[in-house]
Amino acid sequence: MKKIAIIGGGISGLYFANLLNNEKDFEYKIFEKKDNYNFLEGYGIQLSVNSIKLLNSIGFKNLPASEVSFPTKVNFIQANNSKKICDIDLTQFNDSLNRYTTLKRSTLLKFLFQNIPQEKIKFNSNITKVDNSNGIRISFGDNKNEEFDYLIISDGIFSKTRSLIF
Ligand SMILES: Cc1cc2nc3c(=O)[nH]c(=O)nc-3n(C[C@H](O)[C@H](O)[C@H](O)COP(=O)(O)OP(=O)(O)OC[C@H]3O[C@@H](n4cnc5c(N)ncnc54)[C@H](O)[C@@H]3O)c2cc1C
Repeated sequence: MKKIAIIGGGISGLYFANLLNNEKDFEYKIFEKKDNYNFLEGYGIQLSVNSIKLLNSIGFKNLPASEVSFPTKVNFIQANNSKKICDIDLTQFNDSLNRYTTLKRSTLLKFLFQNIPQEKIKFNSNITKVDNSNGIRISFGDNKNEEFDYLIISDGIFSKTRSLIF
């Protein structure tokens, strides 16, 4: 059984972990620096049809209808005089199974998190070093180490993990 470390339990890390849930030859652990998720925050996120195709492969289509919306048009408005510049018909990208979708970001995270076994995600992770000279050895702030075969870095746009790799 190969071991995979996933650094960062955001949208990408959690999505990848969901895919691995169906793999018998791999086990994974997610290292997330936050102490938990805030499933109450209300920011919205819009998801293109391509991303919906990927999410539907892990059961996104089963979310209750009350949690998702399917907008049909986007209007582009000029900021200084509120005049409409153009609009885009979003339905042209849809197919019978996959539709342009909006929902709360927290709802998406909750969906991605719900199938992650508790023991596979370590919150409050403080990674201090990643040694990939012979396999992957991850060191933590409490002087502990853990070894893996593969490393997925999904710690977001301000990723610092690469600077910890030796
Ligand atoms: C204001 C705003 C609006 C956006 N709107 C949309 C939208 O409508 N539609 C859309 O498709 N995209 C949108 N995006 C982009 C989208 O949010 C990102 O593409 C997406 O979040 C990237 O996912 P990710 O998992 O790579 O990173 P993130 O979602 O940023 O997740 C990274 C995770 O890694 C954790 N982490 C960071 N450093 C460490 C570390 N050292 N150790 C362990 N864990 C760590 C973080 O706590 C976080 O949980 C928006 C972005 C912003 C900023």
